[in-house]
Amino acid sequence: MPASSSASIDDIHNALLGAERVVLTSHIRPDGDAIGSELGVAHFLKALGKEVVVINSDSEPRRLGWLLDEHGGELVEKYEEGKLSQIEAFATADVVMVVDTGAAHRLGKVAERVQDAPGKKLLLDHHPDPETWFDLACVRTEAASTGELVYELIAGHDPNLIDENIATALYAAIMTDTGSFRYGATRPSTHRVVADLLERGGISPEPIHINIFDQRTRESLRLLSRALETITTHYSGRLASMVITQEILRESGAYFDETEGLINYALGLAGAVAALIFLETPHGIKVSFRSKGDCKVNGWAAQFGGGGHMNASGAYLRGKPLNSVVKEVIDKAPLHVMSSDPITAQDEDISQDDLALLSAFKGKLD
Ligand code: 5GP
Ligand code: MN
Repeated sequence: MPASSSASIDDIHNALLGAERVVLTSHIRPDGDAIGSELGVAHFLKALGKEVVVINSDSEPRRLGWLLDEHGGELVEKYEEGKLSQIEAFATADVVMVVDTGAAHRLGKVAERVQDAPGKKLLLDHHPDPETWFDLACVRTEAASTGELVYELIAGHDPNLIDENIATALYAAIMTDTGSFRYGATRPSTHRVVADLLERGGISPEPIHINIFDQRTRESLRLLSRALETITTHYSGRLASMVITQEILRESGAYFDETEGLINYALGLAGAVAALIFLETPHGIKVSFRSKGDCKVNGWAAQFGGGGHMNASGAYLRGKPLNSVVKEVIDKAPLHVMSSDPITAQDEDISQDDLALLSAFKGKLD
């Protein structure tokens, strides 16, 4: 790790206090942790009288629209190439702060603007192996979410600043990144942070959960039903996979961002220690990797140019058809899903299930 990775939350705090103008950003296809963490920092800086704008490469997913509508969406912009106010914001910011990713390619269209910005470049994140171009990088991989680190940043300054907006944004960040407080990274301190957010913000969990999880469209339920039909198991059931083709998306009428969370149904199979979802997009195949307990998937994703956390990672493969991506990724599974259990079929190259999956998508995969 570069020396800058060892920056503390106090270092980040001091750099922010010394700034007048701040630009915040996060990763492409921002999730609850990205948007919630950005909003949390943005409201904090506003309360301190700073000028602050959040500029993201992509819009928020539909399920987070309410968070922006009700809790500070006016602070968040989608990047537009050539937009003068945004060029100026990057050029005049004393600090450009990235949350929830330490990799330039994950910043999408703002990557160059961020890296070329004359201001101090800060990172607050919980992903391993940040890149070295940040002036200050505070990375705490033991944190279940970046939202928890933002809480520490704000509470360490003045916990009384935690109002309804900050509490809601950070609750959403932490709740989504911990899978509603059940993933392995969830710690006692995660619950303490959340308890404090509920109290100080005067908020309750139910409406946030309803807004995020219980607002599904009929189309997304249709997508779910089609997705469930594609679930296939491999390596004696230790791995479960799903495939969403463009055709399935089109026929169900769902939006791409409604594929989020589908993979958990595959991981929910008894006996599965890992799950994959292959999402066909117009430009390539997005693969998500998820696992339970000690099964680590970030090394597996890295074999395909991606990365992430031990139990949740992703990769994006271009220039290869769906069928070969499915086969290549599943072929690499044994090293990751079989390591502690030699009794299952180590040398099983392509299982009956794989073959069934391939034939089910024959038209697509030929
Ligand atoms: P998801 O599968 O939900 O898109 O991503 C899960 C996690 O994997 C993210 O939090 C992120 O850490 C990581 N991730 C997803 N896609 C990529 C990718 O293309 N490259 C890298 N390095 N990490 C990714
Ligand atoms: Mn995160």
